[in-house]
Amino acid sequence: MAKIGLESVLSVHHWNDKLFSFRTTRDTSLRFRNGEFVLLGLPGEKRPILRAYSIASSNYEEHLEFLSIKVPNGELTSRLQHIQPGDEIYVSRKPTGTLVADDLKPGKNLYLIATGTGLAPFMSIIFDLEIYDKFDNIILFHGVRNVSELAYRELIENELPDNPYIGENVKQKLIYYPCVTREEFKNTGRVTDLIESGKFVRDIQLDELNPDTDRFMLCGSPGLLEDMQTILNQRGFNISPRLGEQGDYVIERAFAES
Ligand SMILES: Cc1cc2nc3c(=O)[nH]c(=O)nc-3n(C[C@H](O)[C@H](O)[C@H](O)COP(=O)(O)OP(=O)(O)OC[C@H]3O[C@@H](n4cnc5c(N)ncnc54)[C@H](O)[C@@H]3O)c2cc1C
Repeated sequence: MAKIGLESVLSVHHWNDKLFSFRTTRDTSLRFRNGEFVLLGLPGEKRPILRAYSIASSNYEEHLEFLSIKVPNGELTSRLQHIQPGDEIYVSRKPTGTLVADDLKPGKNLYLIATGTGLAPFMSIIFDLEIYDKFDNIILFHGVRNVSELAYRELIENELPDNPYIGENVKQKLIYYPCVTREEFKNTGRVTDLIESGKFVRDIQLDELNPDTDRFMLCGSPGLLEDMQTILNQRGFNISPRLGEQGDYVIERAFAES
């Protein structure tokens, strides 16, 4: 079993019947790069079920934040969704992952493309002061089915610009593009269609995608990742070959298929 520690749940927020987020204490020895994930599990079983979870808080914060799906009859989440402040939770001690800015070549625009809980690692990244030094524009696309799944929307739109550390950078450089597929909303459709039609870059008032200037991080369903990779490869973008080596884009599944 991975090296693991116990943390305490500090708070829980339910976004809707499919999605919740929670905060835990953070062991002072736990170091991570923004965008990485850990394994989480619940005590009380002979062999705890451990699942990968992206850390949604940034690495300078004292707590850890996670955004979680509620899978009906899911092995972990059918229990995890009932956690309460004061409960204990296993957190692995060796964060890892592919969504790290160091594995991207220098560029001008950083596109963070997420669907569903794929937003979690990018929450960590948009709170990272250094990312605003590296790029002129950070574009956060969050695609979901229904408006109620746009977790953290209020925080991104209204609180982040007033953040004492990163607020000025956010105002100048962060472009947030929430998008919905199954309800009326200001932005609708699949990101792949929006890119193919040119609507996405027109809406955010940037130039056509270009491997010389644009870098991508992708986190979402296996289908989204496959389609996005096809689009990027056709346009001459190269994936980071492996951890620690730079490319034009990096990808990570938001969940594994059963
Ligand atoms: C690298 C990585 C990072 C991850 N980060 C997160 C995260 O930050 N938040 C999170 O909620 N999950 C995340 N997951 C998925 C997570 O590990 C579990 O699958 C999820 O918590 C459900 O666990 P479960 O045991 O209840 O169901 P499982 O038995 O793990 O899953 C059952 C089925 O539910 C579906 N499913 C699972 N997770 C999701 C999801 N997140 N969104 C949509 N459908 C899903 C899949 O079809 C899956 O086959 C991540 C997975 C990977 C590989």
